[in-house]
Amino acid sequence: MIAGRGSTSTNELFGRTTAILVGMPARTSAIFSLACLAVILVAGCRSGPQAVKNADYGYSDTPLLPHERWRVHDSARPLPPAVDPRPFIDVPPPSGAIVLFDGRDLAQWKSGDKDGQWRVESGYAEVNGTGSIETKASFGDCHLHIEWATPEIVVGHGQERGNSGVFFMGRYEVQILDSFENPTYADGSAAALYGQVPPAVNASRKPGEWQTYDIVFRAPRFDGEGPDAVLVTPAYATVVHNGILVHDHIAFIGATRHREVATYAPHAIELPLALQDHGAPVRFRNIWIVRL
Ligand code: MG
Repeated sequence: MIAGRGSTSTNELFGRTTAILVGMPARTSAIFSLACLAVILVAGCRSGPQAVKNADYGYSDTPLLPHERWRVHDSARPLPPAVDPRPFIDVPPPSGAIVLFDGRDLAQWKSGDKDGQWRVESGYAEVNGTGSIETKASFGDCHLHIEWATPEIVVGHGQERGNSGVFFMGRYEVQILDSFENPTYADGSAAALYGQVPPAVNASRKPGEWQTYDIVFRAPRFDGEGPDAVLVTPAYATVVHNGILVHDHIAFIGATRHREVATYAPHAIELPLALQDHGAPVRFRNIWIVRL
């Protein structure tokens, strides 16, 4: 079971209550039991989704998401509950993996028609305002491992804090954000399928600490070719954030959009993977990918 930060064990409370009840008069015991039951119910709710109204963040004028009661970037959508991440584990590339970044250079990436232009030093690449980068190779179904860190010195709030993103096929974003004690709209949290599906929980580490994503991505399938091709199966993502499963084979509604409902447009079975320059100096290291 996933433990929430600062949550109290219901079993622990129940045990304490039972011990106190021994030796009480019957009527007092009944009243005390009801009071304790109320405490237990409230304590139990703490580990559930936070009923946070994100009134200062997000939107109330965006379109409804398909088959959902929430709007795109809905300010009222509950935030994923914060949980403690698993300890950091170094995961070197397995045999058969394509190393996209080993800390030395961005030769596997491009900025326009040049090699990736982000700053590389001390074994990491850092977003530097030169724009998003994308792989020279193309990928469809894959397992991606990527390590990232948002700036240790916090600047701004909400979507301004350490924003970047992994764009599969240049279209389908798994959000990167400093989501440690940083409320924003739920579908814009770290590990969200941006603008579509929040993560099940918020497994973020503190700003400046290295975090991991292991993502199994399944490319969408289209029947036919060209603009008349029809979607057969959507794109899917399974996302493990800092050792915690936060998406279990969840479908993308479509290619990532801001303030709009995502839609699909036919494309190739393999396309470059992109990392977003959203203006924040987010760092990356140990990036590898396995074709599935
Ligand atoms: Mg982003």
